[in-house]
Amino acid sequence: MINYQQVDVTTSRSTHPKASLLIIYTGGTFGMAYGKSSTLIPFDFKHVIKKIPELGSLDLKITVFSFTLPIDSSNVHTNHWRAIGHIIMQNYEEYDGFVVLHGTDTMSYSASALSFMFQNLTKPIIFTGAQIPIGTPRSDARDNFLTAIEIASDKKDGQAIVPEVCVYFNHRLLRANRSQKVRSSRFGAFESENYPDLAVSGVLIEYNTPEILRQPDEEMIYSDSFDSNVVLFKLFPNIQQNMMEALLNINGLKGLVIESYGSGNTPNYPWFLECLEEANNRGIVILNVSQCIGGHVIHGRYETSRKLSQSGVLSGSDMTTEAAITKMMLLLGTYNDSEKVKRKLILPTCGEITP
Ligand code: ASP
Repeated sequence: MINYQQVDVTTSRSTHPKASLLIIYTGGTFGMAYGKSSTLIPFDFKHVIKKIPELGSLDLKITVFSFTLPIDSSNVHTNHWRAIGHIIMQNYEEYDGFVVLHGTDTMSYSASALSFMFQNLTKPIIFTGAQIPIGTPRSDARDNFLTAIEIASDKKDGQAIVPEVCVYFNHRLLRANRSQKVRSSRFGAFESENYPDLAVSGVLIEYNTPEILRQPDEEMIYSDSFDSNVVLFKLFPNIQQNMMEALLNINGLKGLVIESYGSGNTPNYPWFLECLEEANNRGIVILNVSQCIGGHVIHGRYETSRKLSQSGVLSGSDMTTEAAITKMMLLLGTYNDSEKVKRKLILPTCGEITP
């Protein structure tokens, strides 16, 4: 279980604030500072808040929840996703939007997971963070945070403009389950190669309204049962049969995401396909996504992918690896029937696959 608590912040004294926001601080470079051994370590939100006095002057009601032990997001696991989901779920009716401060390393995984946990969302959940800590002069933290707050509170005709889980970073708003961290040393750390930006912020925030998800007018469905018995396997030349067999015979394994080459190609050696077919026959769900950050998996475009479907491998189309693995964990945790998991895995649910 992950512990968290409410943190006091001074917010608008206006009796009718423009909107109410809930901020969840999980850690990450955003709030880090140098520790004794000159490495960056997460700090608590009280330290962070002193660096953003602007928070008090916004015409917003703001509540902050913080993980009791903020983390470097390299340590994130499904219980952290549950904790974030739980905080939002418990407070869903009371707030207009949600901002999650998160480390960049695994932000796209966590944000993708949240996008699958909340179906038929009517309010924004905006993930953001920073490449340089808030206490450092050239930090990107302040701008990312304040703009994420604005996006999370923006409404039109009383409705949220972006009722989606998103990643906001370096002036761009990306759909969470299309985002990927692709750079570690530039401010533009994230890309969404297969889907357009949902907004770009300059002098104004320009929303790309036609591309924003139109959620069905149905009750929100929340789920947080993850099954972690999944493996992500990136193909490389010279993969050996004993390695594949060892991988597919991991005790308790229920799902495998293969990161294949190009448009979904893998070796087509007989042993390779037989290993996959045998695992599929044992009920292991196998999904093929590409190592390329842009483009689609198309089984049968080349001879080297033609037999994958016959071996039981599913095409992940243009899903990101981050979306594929988190969606698979959630579906395996929700349904016992692997055939049902397979059907749902390749169906678009919240904009993660181009239909
Ligand atoms: N290691 C950090 C984290 O993901 C990196 C960052 O936040 O930019 O928590």
